[in-house]
Parts: sequence; structure tokens; C-alpha cells
Amino acid sequence: MGGVYSNERMAGAFSYESSEIDWCEDNYKHSEYVVEYFNTMSSFFFFIVSPIMLYLLHPYAKERNLAVHMVWIMMIFVGLFSAYFHMTLSFVGQMLDELSILWVLAVGYSIWFPRKLFPSFIKDRSTFSRLVLLITVITSMSSFVKPTANAYALNCFGLHLLYTLGVEMRCCTDQKVLRLAKLSVALWVLAISCWISDRFGCSFWQRLNFCYLHGIWHILIVIAVAYGSTLIAYLDANYEIPYSLPGLQYWPCDKWAVGLPHIVLKGTTKTQKRC
Ligand SMILES: [Zn+2]
Repeated sequence: MGGVYSNERMAGAFSYESSEIDWCEDNYKHSEYVVEYFNTMSSFFFFIVSPIMLYLLHPYAKERNLAVHMVWIMMIFVGLFSAYFHMTLSFVGQMLDELSILWVLAVGYSIWFPRKLFPSFIKDRSTFSRLVLLITVITSMSSFVKPTANAYALNCFGLHLLYTLGVEMRCCTDQKVLRLAKLSVALWVLAISCWISDRFGCSFWQRLNFCYLHGIWHILIVIAVAYGSTLIAYLDANYEIPYSLPGLQYWPCDKWAVGLPHIVLKGTTKTQKRC
């Protein structure tokens, strides 16, 4: 009997609208198979930006560590799970969506967290990465028992990253870096505002017949991650591979005010040998 019951529960977790969350957008407005059409479609923005970022960050990743690519490979999965979640609003979709975000943060954390700020009992990056991995695995498993566990871990990782970045920025004088930092924070605040407004101000937006803020959050957060992660990667490059003379540039054209930021390496390994 217990087996039958748990099988039913498993199937229920996959079924449409089994998640407790329902975003502001009208359900089944454009298709009978897609619960939230615009929220689903806007998730595909992850598939456009991620490959471009993988391409742009490749020279830096090659010099620093190919594991850097994990961040944007994982972002493709975030987009995939986000699309699945908004298409079905299923409990499994919600879990996959939230957990994939946690894993992106964990990967970024273990690759980029400044070595000088490691706790004293941790000697090298691989030990630090293993510790982050352990915490992420425990959080992922406990979130199936208590779904809010994930939200706490997400906020802890996120806020600590923000704090560390703030400390780093205090002694920075490079205008290009400061501009990138300001833009990253501005984009992030704008994205979060859309998320909160959709979540808590839905009746207001429904009256205006504009229920697309969660979809706009998807688009803004991808760009915010591109800006924020490049900033972190740039600071990291200055610490870890200073001989490669890292610099910041925008794609497709550095002179434009808008574009995707990335790292260019002006020096080569030969420079290192000469020094
Ligand atoms: Zn979403």
C-alpha cells in the first residue's frame, strides 16, 4: 500500500500545477500545454546568452582553469529547468529550477572565492571546493524535505558574495571596473524589483493588464549574471593569473555603451617566463 501511495505522490510531483507557486501571468492564455507562456519563452534567453559567454570567456578559462566554463554550462540548465517549471508549474519543475540556481552559485563560489579570504583551516582551493560541494549536496537533499532550506542557502551564498565584492571594490580605482560593478548592482536591483513586484504586487499589475514582470526578471537576471560574473572573474584573473595582463572589454563593440562584458588577456605565458 505504502508503495502505491508513494508512487502516486511521485507522479503528482510531476503533474501540472503541483507546485504551490503560481506567478502573476495568466495561466494557459496562449496554449493549453504551456501554463505561463511568456515566462516559459523568456527562459530561452538563457540559451542565447550562455553560449556567447562561453565563447567570450574561453581565453580566460583556458589560462585560469577550464572549470570556469561550468558556470555558463550550468546556466543553460537553469534556463532549461526554468522553462520546464513555467511550462508545467510542477513541483519537480520548481525544485529543479531552484536547485540549479543553487548549483550555479556554488560553482561560482568554489572557483572564484578569493584564496586570501579562505578560513584558516582550509589550505587550498580544492579543499575549499570540496567543502562547498558537501554543503551544496546536503542543502540539495534537505530541500526535498524542507523546500525553504534551498532559499536560505541561496541567500547565504548570494549575500556573502555581495559582501566580498563590496570589500574588494572599496580599494578599487579603475574606472572601467567600477562602472562594471555599478552596472552589475543596478541590473541586479532592477531584476530583483521585477521579481518582488510580480510576486507581491500582482493585483496591481493585473489591473494594468501587464503581467510580464517575472519574464522580464528572467531576461534581466541573465544579463546581471553576465556582468557580475565577469567582474568577479576579472578580479580573480588579477590575483591568479596577473602575468596574462587581464583587461575588460565589451562585446560586440567595446565603444558601445551596451554589450556583454568579457576578459581579454593582453599578455601571454611567455610574458610570465620572461619575468
Ligand atoms: Zn522563473
